[in-house]
Amino acid sequence: MIHNVCNTNNPFKMFQERIDTVCSHMEVSEACVTIIRECKREFTVHFPVKMDDGSIRLFTGYRVQHNDIRGPFKGGIRFHPDVNLDEVRALAAWMTMKAAVVNIPYGGAKGAVVCNPKNLSQDELERMTRRYTSEISVLIGPEKDIPAPDVGTNPKIMAWIMDTYSMNRGNSVLGVVTGKPIEIGGSPGRLEATGRGCVINALLAAKHLGIKVEGGTAVVQGFGNVGGIAARMLVENGVRLIAVSDSQGGVYNQNGLDMNKLRSHKQESGSVAGLRGSESIYQNELLGLKCDILVPAALENTICVDNADIVKASMIVEGANGPTTPEADIILNDNGKFVIPDILANAGGVVVSYFEWVQGLQSFFWSENQVNQQLETVMNNAFHEVLEISLREKISMREAAYMLAVKRIDSAITLRGIYP
Ligand code: NAD
Repeated sequence: MIHNVCNTNNPFKMFQERIDTVCSHMEVSEACVTIIRECKREFTVHFPVKMDDGSIRLFTGYRVQHNDIRGPFKGGIRFHPDVNLDEVRALAAWMTMKAAVVNIPYGGAKGAVVCNPKNLSQDELERMTRRYTSEISVLIGPEKDIPAPDVGTNPKIMAWIMDTYSMNRGNSVLGVVTGKPIEIGGSPGRLEATGRGCVINALLAAKHLGIKVEGGTAVVQGFGNVGGIAARMLVENGVRLIAVSDSQGGVYNQNGLDMNKLRSHKQESGSVAGLRGSESIYQNELLGLKCDILVPAALENTICVDNADIVKASMIVEGANGPTTPEADIILNDNGKFVIPDILANAGGVVVSYFEWVQGLQSFFWSENQVNQQLETVMNNAFHEVLEISLREKISMREAAYMLAVKRIDSAITLRGIYP
């Protein structure tokens, strides 16, 4: 089992520090800074679930709504044994920033249940998901707050959420959740959207930096939904994937890992660890490999003050939310690394979630091609807007992305005013 070397940082404090720094370098209303430093609504629930052996287990769940000034709250649901309220607060706040960077009409939220879904039977997982959905149903809804998948959740779980909410309403409500299976109102391209968005960003950055993608090298930490798709699409673009990891371990081959073998090995054994024709590699060794593109796509606090200096990649594409601590960010910048921040790099997921929501509300569905083309347009615009600010203000891509997001949120607050 891989343990993170940097897990002492409080991600919500990291977010607040980031807001303080960015806002001190730009013109922004005091009201905006005060409002976005905190989450609007925080909900904690302890709820019982009947286990297969007849016992009752109490689960703890959260739904945190950070801000909805630009549109309904939007954000995934995480099932993870170590999740806590500050992590959910940070993830909710990053959603607000992300939706603003890519300019889609959403606010930010996040939900979680403290559990290891791998240790639950399918029936237990379903009962737990349905009860959690009932508990948060006072908060969610297609006009209010729309959940989606995150770490430990998937389309099947989204289907249970949609069904539970619909049963309680008395009619099918497609727009209550995104990331659903296609058969029940999901969008083609949603499953791949976050990884695809990362790769669109990586290709745009490579063009800007003059890095040749074909024949280049990449390392992906976290071979799940985001990392697995990003890895596949990088390889499809001619990149040599030299190392990947998941929570059980990492694998390395300087000549390139075979994507098909990697996928079937993961499917059969549950992990990338032990892949034939590869060497095993520790997390810090993997992060320190010489390569063109590094994609941290696991959890928060992966690159911190203890290991930022070893990163040799030219470009870091943050597939995960919050993988780099503020101190590590300074080191990466000082070392001339081009970091595409999470709120831009992994925004492809929320963009296609937005497309799914729009399709559900209209009951009019697009082709996969249309979805992918629209995603490309949105990501392309956002990347160039952020890059333009970064070059003009001589600041990092992260600071530029935050500046753009805060500006958009600030003008919404100014235009709407403070109620009453
Ligand atoms: P996932 O559960 O599908 O995958 C996470 C992967 O990370 C798993 O393979 C897990 O084994 C691995 N992992 C966990 N700890 C690790 C460690 N210490 N070292 C190496 N690997 C480790 O989750 P996901 O949906 O791919 O999400 C990954 C990240 O991307 C999260 O930060 C999430 O918030 C972010 N994200 C996801 C989406 C989405 O659409 N799913 C959208 C935006 C951002």
